[in-house]
Amino acid sequence: MILIESALVVVAVVGIVFAISIWQNSSSDPDGGCQQTLVVGKSVEGISIEACQLNGSNPEAENTLLVVGTIHGDEPDGKRVVDELLTEAVPANTEIWVLRDANPDGAALVTRRNAHEVDINRNFPIKWKPSDPLARTYSGPSPASEPETLALMNAVETIKPTRIVVFHQPYAQIDCPPERSTEISDRLSQLTGFKSECIPGEKSGSPTNTYTGTFTIWVNSTFPETTAVTFELGLATMDAKIQTIAKALRVVAAETAYLP
Ligand SMILES: [Zn+2]
Repeated sequence: MILIESALVVVAVVGIVFAISIWQNSSSDPDGGCQQTLVVGKSVEGISIEACQLNGSNPEAENTLLVVGTIHGDEPDGKRVVDELLTEAVPANTEIWVLRDANPDGAALVTRRNAHEVDINRNFPIKWKPSDPLARTYSGPSPASEPETLALMNAVETIKPTRIVVFHQPYAQIDCPPERSTEISDRLSQLTGFKSECIPGEKSGSPTNTYTGTFTIWVNSTFPETTAVTFELGLATMDAKIQTIAKALRVVAAETAYLP
């Protein structure tokens, strides 16, 4: 009899703990989501490309962070970071925007390029170079020829972020922006455990720098007040790490001490 009673107590306690955890999960939801959504363009196939200002954002904040989840359709994990950011309001005196998917057609086909088979991240109009249409990094028929490129440009010109973090895969490192200091890369590295290291050839003035027409080259060459950093996730990332990265982005958005 005592055994049955103790078993019932255990069941009751487990039930209450379970109920509390459900209540806690659902109670954190109402603060998430967007306080403003901006359609910045359309993909080749006509899918809307949207940017969302996270709930709680203060447009008077000293910095505005824009997080781009993905540009390459076969590199989906940055969207998981964005989804994590969307679960909570931003910290006080912070402004964060997320552009979850800049290449929805590529994502639907699980392919790097867009529906015109152009690599968006070689199509930007700074340091653009023609390339082989069959290459996986085909830069398109002309600079900024693609609607997805124009959508990202529109997002930056409209939102005017001071910091941009754009996700790629699979190198598992935070790249140095060749045109800027490495302060934001180094801080993100400290907070996430990903190494802050220039992708080979990316270093300023390097004779082996072969990157042309990328999003970050365009941002960092066009907007002196904005620093765009490439965050390369690995091939696979655990949920706990995704949460750590989202948390790090909230910290970096709130801190004001970095140089441009
Ligand atoms: Zn990529």
